[in-house]
Amino acid sequence: MAKKNEKTDSDDVKKLKEKLLVRRENGCLQVSDDKLKTADKYCEGYKAFLNTAKTEREVVAYAVAQAEKAGFVPFEAGRPYRPGDRVYSNNRGKALILAVIGEDGCRGGVRIAAAHIDSPRLDLKPHPLYEKDGMSLFKTHYYGGIKKYQWTTIPLSMHGRVVLKDGSCVDLTLGEKEGEPQFCVTDLLPHLADEQMRKTLNKGVEGENLNIVTGSRPVRADSDDSLVRLNAMKILHDQYGMTEEDFVSADLEFVPAFRAVDVGFDRSMIGAYGHDDRVCAYPALTAVLNARKPKNTVVTVLADREEIGSVGNTGLNSQFLHYFVADLAQAEGLEARHVLSRSKCLSADVTAAYDPTYSDVYEPNNSCYVNGGVGVAKYTGGRGKSGTSEASAEFVSEVRRLFEKNGVLWQIGEMGKVDAGGGGTVALYIASLNVDVIDIGVPVLSMHSPFELVSKLDVYMTYKGIQAFYETKE
Ligand code: MN
Ligand code: MN
Repeated sequence: MAKKNEKTDSDDVKKLKEKLLVRRENGCLQVSDDKLKTADKYCEGYKAFLNTAKTEREVVAYAVAQAEKAGFVPFEAGRPYRPGDRVYSNNRGKALILAVIGEDGCRGGVRIAAAHIDSPRLDLKPHPLYEKDGMSLFKTHYYGGIKKYQWTTIPLSMHGRVVLKDGSCVDLTLGEKEGEPQFCVTDLLPHLADEQMRKTLNKGVEGENLNIVTGSRPVRADSDDSLVRLNAMKILHDQYGMTEEDFVSADLEFVPAFRAVDVGFDRSMIGAYGHDDRVCAYPALTAVLNARKPKNTVVTVLADREEIGSVGNTGLNSQFLHYFVADLAQAEGLEARHVLSRSKCLSADVTAAYDPTYSDVYEPNNSCYVNGGVGVAKYTGGRGKSGTSEASAEFVSEVRRLFEKNGVLWQIGEMGKVDAGGGGTVALYIASLNVDVIDIGVPVLSMHSPFELVSKLDVYMTYKGIQAFYETKE
């Protein structure tokens, strides 16, 4: 006789589900109110940082000032260091390495957290200033992957360094302080935009139309040639001592002039320019500043040029991190290649947060969510995982256990649907040094737009994750 079909009772189903299935719920429900308060408090510091340091140069200046306050001194190659020593190495004012020497030095490898401090923006061309039809404007060349139409009709501020003819440097910021003038790119009124509105978003605003309005009043004179441009140049000369030719030796960047603000009735999010990737740079910086005597030497890297492929001597496709680790190794009588081969790295960069308004480009089971905690990506890349270093199962397991053990709220996901697009980080350049690397970071809404959005809880959990990685005794 056939046995009657047995049913699992509902309590057992509940237990089985708890034991066997992944549970997904809003991360705010998985942490205490006290934790949320701590996250909010941590993010006040982050907002202040966002408002002070909008460009790679400003981040380096900010980080060096904080580091010196925390007892860090310039690194000197060839000098021996002792556990607990705190050093930094400034790469041309645009990238920075900070390290705290571990109890074991670097013989067991170093622990690296790498984030980037450049963000998409409008740079000036070498001959930027021109006058047309009674107005003076700047020609720009955009930097990084932007949707060009998003950069019109928003307030912009000017940041950067001009090296004058005599070689002296002028650092300037204009449009950030209350009462300072700001700048903008114009767009066509809808009344006259019939033709523009028929174009694709990609073509609606072209690169050569990202011209920044700089003035409209001429110098009062009899001649009528270039007098508005002359007036703009006269003001720049009075303020900064520069002539028009000095633009050729300048790094001038225009960025959104907004300040970081809380978003939502519940103030759970921060809206700001340049979360990508200062939202990981700040946790990586604060984690190294707070590191005391780690087991292995910990190294925070704040890199430039990620947004254009990490190319250039301040980007991570340069050897500056390799050289730094080589100097650490040499000071302890070790070979750089042995230290690097035992090293581990959190490549800390933002990932796409699932956007309910554009849900069709995301795969819901494999996306990172706002308030889900620090986002882990086993791999990035595009299409068939093109261009990704991909973390091994073993290294993902190590990081997963580390986060669990330290109460770090985390989630894992991909950028979006397999064929929807893709992106990369600095992970592959560090992996090429034979280091174990995994991508982690804060999920961002409206990434690369002038006003990006992140969750405060996710920012704090990224800090906790890096801190746990630095403090591990394994
Ligand atoms: Mn990034
Ligand atoms: Mn980016």
